[in-house]
Amino acid sequence: MIASISKTNEILNKYNLRAKKGFGQNFIIESGVVAKIASSSFSDEAVIEIGPGIGALTEQLALISKKVISFEIDENLIPVLDEVLKEYKNVEIVNKDFLEINLKEVVDKLLLEYKKVSICANLPYYITTPILFKIFESNASVDYITVMVQKEVADRFKAKCNSSDYNALSVITQYLYDVSLVMVVSASVFNPKPNVDSAVIQFKRKNVDENFDREKFFKFVKMCFKQRRKTLYNNLKDSISKEIINKVLLENGLKESVRAQEISLNTFIKLFENFKGYEVF
Ligand code: SAM
Repeated sequence: MIASISKTNEILNKYNLRAKKGFGQNFIIESGVVAKIASSSFSDEAVIEIGPGIGALTEQLALISKKVISFEIDENLIPVLDEVLKEYKNVEIVNKDFLEINLKEVVDKLLLEYKKVSICANLPYYITTPILFKIFESNASVDYITVMVQKEVADRFKAKCNSSDYNALSVITQYLYDVSLVMVVSASVFNPKPNVDSAVIQFKRKNVDENFDREKFFKFVKMCFKQRRKTLYNNLKDSISKEIINKVLLENGLKESVRAQEISLNTFIKLFENFKGYEVF
């Protein structure tokens, strides 16, 4: 089992390696944690992993999946991964920056051979949001994304209206996915230990209406949250006429003083459809 403090130190010493801060390297040293992440991730067919590190989570995925493709940016880790995972013939390690790959192409190719593709990772925290948005915007057919992120980032992704963490990112993400918390993870299960607690969250793809203009909807949501402390009315009034804003708010039973944080995803969708009816977008 790779995920233990003794095995991690043994591997790092053998290859004369140190965890690189610049690549967000914090290795999991608790086998129970990696096993739980893998078993929650719906990875029984093909799974894509981002940042295998020294292979702690990769090993668990290899035990339950038909195929594991892991993208690792750090070339120094490639010989280590090749060695520690050599008995797992279903693992393919690719030395590439995940942000540079054509994800849809990778997923489509896997789908020729496997019934489904999931994504599972302990993400490098310095690029959590770019990685997730790359996946969300890729149009790749991935039903489950299970990732370890900083706890405060997980809180924002899963926040509901009227909570202080709720923002445009929460609304956009929850339009596309059902977001759920798998578990909160203490900083002490990592080596080196990060300064913050972490959480594993899961994004389950929703069946969204393909004819809905999601790009415009996302722009509209961002506009509504432009200045958090301002009312919705004030955030919209530079782009939409005051009369139309007032009419739409009234049609939806909302006061002029309402703020974006108080509006649910479903109400955002209704507001957007109503504004579209007035041809403001
Ligand atoms: N999966 C391992 C574990 O759980 O112990 C390591 C996780 S560590 C938090 C993040 C990993 O992502 C590191 O191995 C790091 O080198 C790698 N990484 C960082 N940026 C990356 C990128 N742009 N593309 C692919 N891998 C990246």
